[in-house]
Amino acid sequence: MEIRPFDRIDLTKVLPALSIDEAARIRRAAARIDLSAPAPGRSGWTWFPDRVTYTESGERWVVFGIAFSYASGPQRDGVEFDLSVIREQPPSLAVEISTDIDCWCETDHRYHTIRSQSWLVGTPESFIQAFESATATLAQWITGSHTAADYRVTTGLPSPSVTLGSGSQN
Ligand SMILES: [Zn+2]
Repeated sequence: MEIRPFDRIDLTKVLPALSIDEAARIRRAAARIDLSAPAPGRSGWTWFPDRVTYTESGERWVVFGIAFSYASGPQRDGVEFDLSVIREQPPSLAVEISTDIDCWCETDHRYHTIRSQSWLVGTPESFIQAFESATATLAQWITGSHTAADYRVTTGLPSPSVTLGSGSQN
């Protein structure tokens, strides 16, 4: 499996004024979540250098990020822990983390975000602080359950067994 390391991301493209010390702080923060083994198929950091530039259309592009996906049970019910750095109008960037679980509603929403945090930042220093908080919080979330059903209990969202049960009589 190809592991995509954090160092593949050119931070000076994202934050042009970044000093060497500041870049080192960001790498240290990223290392907190590099410790957890990424799930198969989501092997490390995504990086989209062509999305660094803000477009006038105002679309929110993910510039770089990482996802940890876990599936369990016969239906491969999934839970995912995500971190995304998003280009907003320069010099702003958004740092977002979330925990998402698969959707088993009759209407397909693809996934449901059950917990999230975000930071809108405009300077290297504020980015570093946000990224440090985001990676620390995500690392803590990842130490929790990797079973989607455990998160579904408190949300009242449909579970895969209910969906299967209604359609299992052929
Ligand atoms: Zn749904």
